[in-house]
Amino acid sequence: MSLSSYAASGQVTLVGAGPGDPELLTIKALKAIQAATLLLVDDLVSEGIVALATASARIIRVGKRGGCRSTPQSFIEKLMITAAQEGERVVRLKGGDPFMFGRGGEEVEHLQAAGVRVDVVNGITAGLAAVTSLQLPLTHRQHAHGVVFVTGHAKPGDSGTDWRALAQTAHSAKLTLVIYMGVGGAARIQQELLSGLAAGTPVLIVQNASLPQQRHAQTTLDQLHATIEREGLGSPAVIVVGDVVSGVSAMDQTGIYLERRG
Ligand code: SAH
Repeated sequence: MSLSSYAASGQVTLVGAGPGDPELLTIKALKAIQAATLLLVDDLVSEGIVALATASARIIRVGKRGGCRSTPQSFIEKLMITAAQEGERVVRLKGGDPFMFGRGGEEVEHLQAAGVRVDVVNGITAGLAAVTSLQLPLTHRQHAHGVVFVTGHAKPGDSGTDWRALAQTAHSAKLTLVIYMGVGGAARIQQELLSGLAAGTPVLIVQNASLPQQRHAQTTLDQLHATIEREGLGSPAVIVVGDVVSGVSAMDQTGIYLERRG
């Protein structure tokens, strides 16, 4: 398949850049990046991935890190629509998977409403990369029947996640929780989850998953906030709650995952 079919002119491709490590990109994502004439890049996309674009491609960073204010969503959408209509091969590079939080769905709706063709390419979502890097399966059948990906940060005006209901369900249905954007609100999340989950429920915090500066801490639910403070952990990080996390402590010095016994 030719490169251009991955990011044809006059269309926008939403590309999942994965958690940071360029080697975790899909081949489709790489081809779309290399075919792009214009890239709009979120701030959780690593420089190693942006560097894969051709030298002639225009790169616009639209994130809010590095001291700049984030570009308003409406402006990003207008820019994509205009550029696509002018025949550019537009790639919208988003961290992780484009449809796992991060407003990919809204962008597709606006582009489609403007009559712009849109393609979406999967990326590895941060919650998966974080645990896989520690050889921890989110659905280890000894510990969990399933997994919930949930946001710790609601959009303005939304009452947000019902942590109490979630805690009860996670307990009764044996579900692992993977919390995105939860570090800032960890004190409240901890307090509310404790209404349905035991104080000793294992918890893992992974910051900068897949990047050389990756760090993690393992603790229990009643120590979640204190651990984040003590270890100086910050965004971007995912918080994993549930018995599957006990596998991390069972990891030996060589990093091999050992099943917890007994
Ligand atoms: N679409 C993204 C998520 C966007 S929301 C994805 O699929 O991964 C942004 C949140 O993702 C961050 O607040 C953090 O919780 C998580 N995140 C993104 N990159 C991360 C990384 N490298 N390590 C840990 N968490 C990350």
